[in-house]
Amino acid sequence: MEIKHISKDQLAVQQVFAQEDRVLLRERFGRTPRALVKSFGCAQNVNDGEKLMGMLKEMGCTFTDSVEEADIALYNTCAIRENAEQKVFGIIGQATHQKAGRKEMLIGLCGCMAQQEHIAEKIKKSFPGVDMVFGTHVVHTLPEIIHEVLMPEGKKRRRVFDIPECDGVIAEGLPTVREDSVRAGLPIMYGCNNFCTYCVVPLVRGRERSRRSADILAEAKDLIAKGYKEITLLGTNVNSYGKDLEDDLSFPQLLEAVGNLPGDFWVRFMTSHPRDCTKELIDVIARTPKVCNHIHLPVQSGSDRILKEMNRHYTREQYLSIIDYAKKTIPDVTFTSDIIVGFPGETYEEFGETLSLIQEVGYSSLFTFIFSPRVGTRAAEMDDPVPAAEKSRWFNELLETQKACGMTFYEREEGKTLKVLCEGYGKTKNGILSEDQASEGKSVLMGRTERGMVVDFAGDPSLIGQFVDVTITRAANWALAGKLAKPSAE
Ligand code: SAH
Ligand code: SF4
Repeated sequence: MEIKHISKDQLAVQQVFAQEDRVLLRERFGRTPRALVKSFGCAQNVNDGEKLMGMLKEMGCTFTDSVEEADIALYNTCAIRENAEQKVFGIIGQATHQKAGRKEMLIGLCGCMAQQEHIAEKIKKSFPGVDMVFGTHVVHTLPEIIHEVLMPEGKKRRRVFDIPECDGVIAEGLPTVREDSVRAGLPIMYGCNNFCTYCVVPLVRGRERSRRSADILAEAKDLIAKGYKEITLLGTNVNSYGKDLEDDLSFPQLLEAVGNLPGDFWVRFMTSHPRDCTKELIDVIARTPKVCNHIHLPVQSGSDRILKEMNRHYTREQYLSIIDYAKKTIPDVTFTSDIIVGFPGETYEEFGETLSLIQEVGYSSLFTFIFSPRVGTRAAEMDDPVPAAEKSRWFNELLETQKACGMTFYEREEGKTLKVLCEGYGKTKNGILSEDQASEGKSVLMGRTERGMVVDFAGDPSLIGQFVDVTITRAANWALAGKLAKPSAE
């Protein structure tokens, strides 16, 4: 098998289907069809969801967040942990309940869950209301899939299950409806070749494949021209970028090229695997002002034995040495990480090594997970003697440790005036500003600092989508409160 590049001609065929679907959908629903696209999980999946919306728009759809209003409901799922999957089954149950009263409604399941055979089987048997299940490699054929559902051969209703096994595809030029007008995800590569023993991603997303840098740079320029203020370069392992391309850029070169494009914006990237996070990459972050001084570098565990069992290809010492280099090279750098608690066979002492590593690095925040066995992965077959209740205790200990570490980070920002990208409205319920609430008729706004910390402040909604200077007045361990430093900027 190999990577398929979807040609312009193939996409043109899809556009023909989309135009036919436009007519058929209108007929079926007797009005402009309303579509709900709900994406779960990582930023890459959200980006796929935006492409699904782009294609649905070409089919004449408008969008809704409510399943009660939706004529078409598409669930773009995540398979990374079991609870993500369980949640989706609950939601599909609700959607099929809706469909009981509106037979013409269409329900679809796609994304990482849909790419797994046992899930497709379960949907086939237990959720007859679902009309289409399609995998991660055929997202670009949504118009054709909907067409098949709408044009059954004979009288019987048609259900479409399209989950080809494939090393992966690259489809350039799909229409996109972006949900956010300030921040944009920009995929640079897809798939993963790492096969960490706990992870389902390589099984459902295919092999690593990079987009051409010319396509990425053109998309970045377009986003900047449209006024986006933050671009996040996306990939399951961005450091592998370009390894499959001849005569093209490496990831550090690409990052620098995007960061040097003219315009007023920030660049972030996700996810960098510690195994091939190089000094060259750190140097680029240090010398490119528009690249944020924040590195998400998932360590997973602080124990060498567990890292080996996870197939991560680095040791604690190697990880700490890159952190050390970054701390010396990039002023004010912050790190965030992903941690798995309770990997099969992990002992309390080994878990303790994760706690000590967290204290040694000093992360501003962590994404923490209890190990979840995934069908088809090596770790799912391993002996896992530690009871769930014990893992939960470790998990809480991890949260307590991070709470203390994170707090020092946030407190350090008090009194400073920081550049903040205003992303939207802040929380008024249980938010950091709830007591000393925005006054004088101003709204509670939220933004993020270059180092990725959330800041709530009072201001005029016209500031959404702009960089503003905010003086930090108070810190919690999960957010900062501040005041606009230059009220005249309003
Ligand atoms: N490509 C990224 C991670 C993508 S998955 C990387 O290699 O860093 C996001 C996170 O989910 C992982 O970093 C890991 O911490 C967590 N995760 C993945 N599989 C998991 C599993 N089976 N159980 C618990 N957490 C898992
Ligand atoms: Fe999963 Fe590891 Fe690939 Fe990340 S690098 S997606 S954790 S297999």
